[in-house]
Amino acid sequence: MKKYAVIVVDMLNDFVTGPIASPRVHHIIEPIKELCDHARSQGMPVVYANDSHTPEVDKEFRVWGPHAVEGTYGAEVIEELKPKEGDVIIPKKTYSAFFQTPLDLILREMDVDTVVVTGWQADCCCRHTSADAFFRGFDIVFPRETTDTDTEEGYVGALKYVEKIYGAKVCSVKDLY
Ligand code: ZN
Repeated sequence: MKKYAVIVVDMLNDFVTGPIASPRVHHIIEPIKELCDHARSQGMPVVYANDSHTPEVDKEFRVWGPHAVEGTYGAEVIEELKPKEGDVIIPKKTYSAFFQTPLDLILREMDVDTVVVTGWQADCCCRHTSADAFFRGFDIVFPRETTDTDTEEGYVGALKYVEKIYGAKVCSVKDLY
């Protein structure tokens, strides 16, 4: 039987109400909350992968400008999705939740073989997290309602890309209940 973990990518104040917020992020909050509550009730791990940037050295700021600086309010998970006891918190320095973090080891220790990738942005951090999950042999589920990005084109393209290139199961979040 497959063992799933839900990964919540970058649902942080700076991405929702801060300097690089998008109006397209708000509608994914409630579906992510419902999915996380469901996961916890089933004993399924919930993992938060959170940007936690070091401004002096972070190359990513050249692309996005300053955001999610470690230790600031902007780098905290939004109030609506605050982690609960037992959830796993993974600070990350760049797009992928796996890149130079202990996520791979933690998932393997929990016998997880399938990651449900949710959060912001579908075509950047969610996509790069999916790439690294694929490289490491995890199956990927990519529900449509629990991710988005700043343009419709980017969103539709991301869903197609992860399905075609990483074999992700793109589905309705309701299929997981
Ligand atoms: Zn970042």
